Amino acid sequence: MSKRNVIIGRIGEIALKGLNRSTFEAQLAKNMKHAISDCGNFKVNWSQSRFFVEGVDDTFKIDYAAECLTKVFGLVSVSPAWSMNTDYEEIKKTAVEVTELKLSTMTPDKGGKISFKVETRRADKKFPMNSQEISADIGGMLLEKFDVLTVDVKNPDFILYVEVRENSYVYTDILPAQGGMPVGCNGKACLLLSGGIDSPVAGYMIAKRGVSLMAVHFFSYPYTSERAKEKVLELAGIVSKYSGPIKVYVVPYTDTQLAINDNCRAELSTVIMRRSMMRIAERIARKNGCSALITGESLGQVASQTMHAIYCTNEAANMPVFRPLIGMDKMETVDIARKIGTFETSILPYEDCCTVFTPKHPKTKPSLNELLEEEKKFDYKELEDIAFNNCEIIRC
Ligand code: ATP
Ligand code: MG
Repeated sequence: MSKRNVIIGRIGEIALKGLNRSTFEAQLAKNMKHAISDCGNFKVNWSQSRFFVEGVDDTFKIDYAAECLTKVFGLVSVSPAWSMNTDYEEIKKTAVEVTELKLSTMTPDKGGKISFKVETRRADKKFPMNSQEISADIGGMLLEKFDVLTVDVKNPDFILYVEVRENSYVYTDILPAQGGMPVGCNGKACLLLSGGIDSPVAGYMIAKRGVSLMAVHFFSYPYTSERAKEKVLELAGIVSKYSGPIKVYVVPYTDTQLAINDNCRAELSTVIMRRSMMRIAERIARKNGCSALITGESLGQVASQTMHAIYCTNEAANMPVFRPLIGMDKMETVDIARKIGTFETSILPYEDCCTVFTPKHPKTKPSLNELLEEEKKFDYKELEDIAFNNCEIIRC
């Protein structure tokens, strides 16, 4: 008997790996299990570039699990499928059932027809028919059974997929996933997470390359509200659906920020603040075993992101700073934010500490020397020590 109880996962870049491929596959399997841990009972195995998640009893929520798996980096697509023993009569019977079900969800064109084709993959080379023969035979059988069907190999309304392996699988749907590398294969980095549109996208993009994330948020209560903090934590929660758990350090930043404001020239205050954020974030990052910082900066987007300002900000950090959005237009970033589901939260109108203290006329070409002079005007080291030592830690 066939049953719709398996999700087939396809890998992309991992398949290009050489000797260390098994490490990537094992990490991907672990991440998949974690992502669907609340989807009932299942087991995961893999062979020949395919991952199989098999429900072992009726508790398995296959559609929900498939949706969760589309967020796991390393998979390029997933398909909920019917599985059966590799027995040709059984495969044909299932092909009829699956086609019938698919047709019940579709509307015929004006001519009363729905076009299709059968695509077969035969990994079991011992099977007596080759893939073209299987496709032609099953396609012919379905055409005879369902009057509404017509064949279109170039642009069909749906494709019936048949995979013949140790077990066999039949399915019609391929859900696109994220691609990338399994998180955990490529070290750990610390995301400077504001409540805006850019930084959650930046975190998503670096996690996509297999990097585990933690996050730092600078919080200037009461200038920024408790709700602004909740929003940041919600964003971390959304990104964690892709990246796995994120530990968020909320840094009490009010005193440092006020000191910058009171002591330094207004037109330089934003870059001085950004340098201070870099120093504190780096300390938190090192303490947590991170090898890099991540920001949502994009070249020229605002005064603090001109080439000169980024040069000065970068100089305060002694570890690599990844800026995956550096060459992107805002609209490109917004598209990703919408796709990953952070956009609607990001545009909630709660203030960020950067915006509250923004000077009217920030200098777009600050020099490092003048910034270093300004920084001598107050004891930022002590303030940064206090901020660093009093973080609130929240797991998202
Ligand atoms: P975003 O949309 O991510 O808020 P932005 O375009 O508003 O970015 P800025 O406010 O200049 O730009 O901030 C640039 C980057 O600095 C952010 O992408 C983020 O990585 C970091 N950052 C800004 N404010 C904070 C904050 N309060 N806590 C942590 N990181 C921050
Ligand atoms: Mg911002």
